[in-house]
Amino acid sequence: TLRMARGLPTKSPIKGVKHVVAVASGKGGVGKSTTAVNLAVALASQNISTGLLDADLFGPSIPRMMNLTSTPETTPQNLLRPLTNYGVKCMSMGFLIDRDAPIVWRGLMVMKALEQLLRQVEWGVDVLVVDMPPGTGDTQLTVSQSVVVDGAVIVSTPQDVALADVRKGVNMFRKVGIPIFGLVQNMSLYQCPNCSHTSHIFGNQDHLVSTAQSMDLDILANIPLHPDVCATSDAGTPIVIAQPTSVHAEVYRGLAKKV
Ligand code: ADP
Repeated sequence: TLRMARGLPTKSPIKGVKHVVAVASGKGGVGKSTTAVNLAVALASQNISTGLLDADLFGPSIPRMMNLTSTPETTPQNLLRPLTNYGVKCMSMGFLIDRDAPIVWRGLMVMKALEQLLRQVEWGVDVLVVDMPPGTGDTQLTVSQSVVVDGAVIVSTPQDVALADVRKGVNMFRKVGIPIFGLVQNMSLYQCPNCSHTSHIFGNQDHLVSTAQSMDLDILANIPLHPDVCATSDAGTPIVIAQPTSVHAEVYRGLAKKV
């Protein structure tokens, strides 16, 4: 009641959703959406009914990565019907607005839109994977404070600049009482397809390991840098689908078992 009196959202479950997994990152461009998409597809491939919510209102990637372009229908109950591909029910602001239109909204409109994308959707899933916006701003707080989230996965690359933001992300979730399943290290290792030499492009991967340890967190998955991850995402066929026998597909399926 106190929260309501202050105009703060109260935590409540999302109708038609049993579990919520948030995929977050301290900063943009580290592979959060790629992880969210492949995690969702991997869950669905393990016969778990799965939804994917693109909460990145300002830079929605799900329509492209999941190859979905149509506009959601409205049900007689006035709910949006998610669009489905690869067995995953998806909802994104990108389905509702023009692809090239920027969102020029103030905070309140963003919150309203987010609430609608979360709750006024005919989900009917066991697990909802939420692709969070990068960082620890307003939108992240709205989701974290208004939804019962079972756990968060935090994606990072191994650079020190990214790691500083991981700590902020971890602290935000801890502050609002959301458990953290662990960290995903992305793009740390590169194996040259010609000579098979491996290199750590963004520096020493031990930095993320020690960051994880110092925050009492596990590293749930290590995802090597590979051009096919990018190419398959761009083509709208996540690597778990496009190359199911690849090392990457294996790693994402392993991640799906841990959340
Ligand atoms: P974020 O959601 O953190 O902004 P994205 O998932 O959109 O990041 O990824 C940023 C870019 O990096 C995309 O072009 C994506 O295809 C690419 N990418 C992500 N992970 C990998 C990887 N492991 N190997 C190669 N490219 C990757």
